Amino acid sequence: MSYLLKNATMPNGSKADLAIHDSHFVAVSSLPKDHQVIDLAGKQVLPGLVDLHTHLREPGFEESETVATGSLSAVRGGFTAISAMANTSPVADTAGVVEQVYRLGQAAGLCDVFPIGAVTEGLNGQTLSEIGAMADSAARVRVFSDDGKCVFDPLIMRRALEYVKKFDGVIAQHAQEPTLTQDAQMNEGAMSAQLGLKGWPAVAEEAIIARDVLLAEHTKSRLHICHLTTAGGVEIIRWAKARGIQVTAEVTPHHLLLTDDYAKNYDPIFKVNPPLRLESDVLALRAGLADGTIDIVATDHAPHSSESKDCEWSVASFGMVGLETALSIVIKTMVETGAMNYEAVAQRLSIAPARIARYENHGQVLEVGSVANLTVVDTAAKWVVDRDLMSTRSKNTPFHGFELPGVVTHTFFSGKLVFGG
Ligand SMILES: [Zn+2]
Repeated sequence: MSYLLKNATMPNGSKADLAIHDSHFVAVSSLPKDHQVIDLAGKQVLPGLVDLHTHLREPGFEESETVATGSLSAVRGGFTAISAMANTSPVADTAGVVEQVYRLGQAAGLCDVFPIGAVTEGLNGQTLSEIGAMADSAARVRVFSDDGKCVFDPLIMRRALEYVKKFDGVIAQHAQEPTLTQDAQMNEGAMSAQLGLKGWPAVAEEAIIARDVLLAEHTKSRLHICHLTTAGGVEIIRWAKARGIQVTAEVTPHHLLLTDDYAKNYDPIFKVNPPLRLESDVLALRAGLADGTIDIVATDHAPHSSESKDCEWSVASFGMVGLETALSIVIKTMVETGAMNYEAVAQRLSIAPARIARYENHGQVLEVGSVANLTVVDTAAKWVVDRDLMSTRSKNTPFHGFELPGVVTHTFFSGKLVFGG
């Protein structure tokens, strides 16, 4: 199929016509005669969004999400590449499991699904998994994470950082000091005291970030910090980058908007790991994302069945779905506030995550010769989030009923129109 996309607003604000033939952007003059014309007047285009942190739940928890339903949710949200976290059942800690997930992604055919490999066997925190075999597999894994659990043992963390250097990999750390957060339910502060829920102090996150940036410096390896949530964490990353340490960091959309005040009615839809923090943290995260201290936005899309969310706070699962609302939350918190323009949005949601994970066909400049991974957004349009209309198999969005800016109208993956039109 061939497309001529007319009058698109490019990330830098200029206007352009874009031509797609087969899987690539081509010169308008070289389009075959039978191409389809789509008028994008007034619409913003972005390189296809790339998520570095997606829980797809397959294999093992298909009642919450599958690779196929997660892929559909992704392209509705404008993503053309997602990264399947390893905490499935079985855990993605062998070449066999990562190849299975990779092939399920190819079979769904809507976007690239890149598996993340577990750092330790069965996420046990004690024995390194088959990191080399996963890197050499058909899935060519470059990102390794025990996400959901912290790689707590500093010797294991050091060895993992050393190991992935061989093939330019990166360790993505879920920074949560386990003894400081035992049985913790939400951010530790005035709200947790008022609600009588066990608190989760900021220092439990920051202590691991501080340790690991020093380990990354010592090993001269690449470290990525998942879902940063505290002002202090932003300061540590800023310090580490100034020292030349190879560290990158992500923030989730929900941590850019929500605070622990939302927990006040004990509604577990707001229960998430790491927890919602304070207004001062939200502002520090926005400032860090705007100035590039925080490299990317990643969804931490975490689908859960209604049974595990429609219950008492203390027994509910941690996590929120996020693929279909991520871009709108970024527009609301970063663009509409004047903190970022669309060139920066393209950086933080596509170019930088593709670079960190070495996803070669993603995060490219929208020009002749590039693979046609493209998201089209009507930035002037608003929509009301309705959990029952979403494509994810789970309903656990904290944004149900929110009116948000920015409607994704088309997603092209490798030249194919996979959503909209
Ligand atoms: Zn995590």
